[in-house]
Amino acid sequence: MAEGSRRERWITFLLLPALVLSVLVLTGITFRSGFQLERLRERSVVEATLALVSEKVDRLDKRIVEQDAVLVQLMVPEERDVSSAEWLKIAARQTPTVRATLIVDLSAKDQPVISFASRSAAGPEDERFRRLLIRSILPELKLEPPRGELRHLHRSFGDQSYLVSYWQRDADGRRYLVVAWHDVARIVHELFPSLAERGDRQQSRVNVVDEEGRIVFGPPLSRGGLTVGRAFDSTLYKWTVNVSLSASEELAEAAARRRVLEMSLVGLSAAVTLGGLVVILLALARERKLAHLKSDFIANVSHELKTPLSLVRMFGELLQSGRVDTEAKRQQYLQIIVSESERLGALIENVLDFAKVERGHAGYEFSRRQVGEVLARAVDACHLRADREGKRLVLDVAPDLPPANLDERAIEIAVINLIDNALKYAPDGEQVTITARERGGFIEVRVIDQGPGIAPEDRRRIFERFVRGKSAAGRQVRGSGIGLALVKHIAEAHGGAITVESPGISGSEFVLSVRSAGPPRARPSAARGEPR
Ligand code: ADP
Repeated sequence: MAEGSRRERWITFLLLPALVLSVLVLTGITFRSGFQLERLRERSVVEATLALVSEKVDRLDKRIVEQDAVLVQLMVPEERDVSSAEWLKIAARQTPTVRATLIVDLSAKDQPVISFASRSAAGPEDERFRRLLIRSILPELKLEPPRGELRHLHRSFGDQSYLVSYWQRDADGRRYLVVAWHDVARIVHELFPSLAERGDRQQSRVNVVDEEGRIVFGPPLSRGGLTVGRAFDSTLYKWTVNVSLSASEELAEAAARRRVLEMSLVGLSAAVTLGGLVVILLALARERKLAHLKSDFIANVSHELKTPLSLVRMFGELLQSGRVDTEAKRQQYLQIIVSESERLGALIENVLDFAKVERGHAGYEFSRRQVGEVLARAVDACHLRADREGKRLVLDVAPDLPPANLDERAIEIAVINLIDNALKYAPDGEQVTITARERGGFIEVRVIDQGPGIAPEDRRRIFERFVRGKSAAGRQVRGSGIGLALVKHIAEAHGGAITVESPGISGSEFVLSVRSAGPPRARPSAARGEPR
């Protein structure tokens, strides 16, 4: 037992925390590797998206810069009228988003616009732009060398976005600024749709947002980690192109699904581990209880053996000494020796039968028998003891009782056990009644005493092996706790059961049932109300 409790302590204090720890570590590792894998996948999606968005931004930048390049070639400040006329001829084809070109004389003090060529008929908008250029745009342009470099200004004035391309030219000792005014609305309507073209292999969604995050073009996109944005490099540099691969949304959904699956799997394995542990602990506790009961059993059986043995020895020695003077006394002593030896024999038989049941070797030999006859033999075996204790055994067998298929010896042992208990636990009762009746295809044998009864909490337990009830412990009645377990095994082997009906105040009524075999007997035979 000490070994058992040490093992239990080991399990509780070392194995349990170790198991919980390993479940936690496993959970951690699973989550971490899942998370890392997810990050890797995310990173590759982000990289693919970034490559895609860069390609789109560069393509659009290039389309604007190509138009500027045409103008850089074409616009010659010293021949501005010819240049402007030339440009207007090719404007629709080669510079579709340029709305007007302007030349400013930077060498003059007030920096006047010396040329203004517009593709639309001169209107208030052109005039507004000319004033905006002088007042607000010119001061913001970077005019430091290198002079010929093509530069862009992208800015909002009021609620309108402006894009101008500009470069400087030196001619005839003067410095000129050539400006190309791009029509931003036109860029949005005519060039931006090419951003969303599905030329790429991956399905994607694209939008363009301004410096304040307002959508200029395209649908709203989720702001998740897998939407990648990049600003235009040189032209519309205040705006950002966002791309979200459709695959990224699928990826996010798959990741969420995987997380739920992983969580459930980890939860399940943790529950199984902990459940297994609880089962082990319960089994250990049961084993310990059983070991405890077994050691009680050994002590009880030894005690049970010792008492009749010492009586046999004592009366045997008395007889041997020759000091017993009367024949009546001699007979009485001899009878005590015989009945105590019988008791010893019965006990040893009980233990041996129980051992067979425990090892699963209990074999029964069934044959068609009259229950009344078996009961009469069992009562006979107990009458000496009953007489000695001043009690009556009353056997009452229904006359029309059908036969049953039974192992005579086993049923006899079972009934002797029940009668023995009735005598043992009801020391003040005057009578023990044994009845046999047929009910619903079963033969019910009842052993009724006038003892203390069975406490309600004991009624189920007393049929378990080694268990002794309150009636035994309270009154220190000797016993081993295997009698009723044996009776239960025998009853069940006969297709029946053993139960106890006890009001708990006066008397117990044990009911042993066995399956009947056939119609009732024709002739009434067994004794009825026969005191023994
Ligand atoms: P034992 O009698 O050796 O203890 P049993 O298996 O025969 O073992 O009985 C189990 C327990 O059932 C007893 O310890 C006792 O508490 C209770 N018991 C059995 N028969 C009776 C009875 N006739 N009256 C009261 N209690 C009983």
